[in-house]
Amino acid sequence: MIDQSHSMWDHINASLKEKIDILANNPYRFYIGPNVWALRNSRQEILEDFLKEAITLEDFELCQKIREVKTFLGFINNHQASRDYIVILETEETMWDVDVRYYLKKEGNLLKLYTTNDTNEEFHNCDTSLEINDYLTKKDVIELLENYFYKWHAYGGLPRFRKEGLLDEKEFYAIIDSIKEKRMHYMKRTKELKTPFIDYLEKVNLHPIPDGKSEYQWLAKCPYSNGNHHIMVSTKNNTYGCGWCKKKGNQRDLENYLKTRRL
Ligand SMILES: [Zn+2]
Repeated sequence: MIDQSHSMWDHINASLKEKIDILANNPYRFYIGPNVWALRNSRQEILEDFLKEAITLEDFELCQKIREVKTFLGFINNHQASRDYIVILETEETMWDVDVRYYLKKEGNLLKLYTTNDTNEEFHNCDTSLEINDYLTKKDVIELLENYFYKWHAYGGLPRFRKEGLLDEKEFYAIIDSIKEKRMHYMKRTKELKTPFIDYLEKVNLHPIPDGKSEYQWLAKCPYSNGNHHIMVSTKNNTYGCGWCKKKGNQRDLENYLKTRRL
């Protein structure tokens, strides 16, 4: 019996799709046989062979993924790539009902996140990027996307999966689950750290709710606009602020304002 506990067997025994995923995580050694591995400089040829295999199998989704992984590794390993971007995936935004494609575009030593949507073909710069280096992996792309979704989907619904690129449906929903879990954790923690200022906001019917982004952040109805939008509340120093109305203060400021409104 051959002992197959060594991690090289995970590579050797993997299915074609699993091999692509292993390569996308940019391992130092990619095993192609017992004790035989390909270093980073020969991955393009290996992926080219895998692409031919996927074409023969008529698995066109996998073909798409292989092309993205090949370009991604081409950026990392400084090989000539046929284009300067990779498609991460395509989502459907539940709030706006549009399809959004996520890209990483190579600009110098950075991979910058861009989006386009089906109503506007222009590239939108998301102001977030990854630095290209030897150790960059698909996991870094996943983390980048998770942080971006977390930042921009706190108030609306989370996106739905549409079409795969470098990342597939399973990886996408793992991101969504992780965001939901993180949000739940913050909600719980925020409620534990509730202060009398929050009780006051409840008493005056401004309906404070944890915003799920950090353990001190709450949202409440904005009294200056009759609740048309939210004020941000922090239990760190028991203050509030409204970016729309350009108002900020503490409980006393709010009490004074509400008094004048009742007069
Ligand atoms: Zn306001």
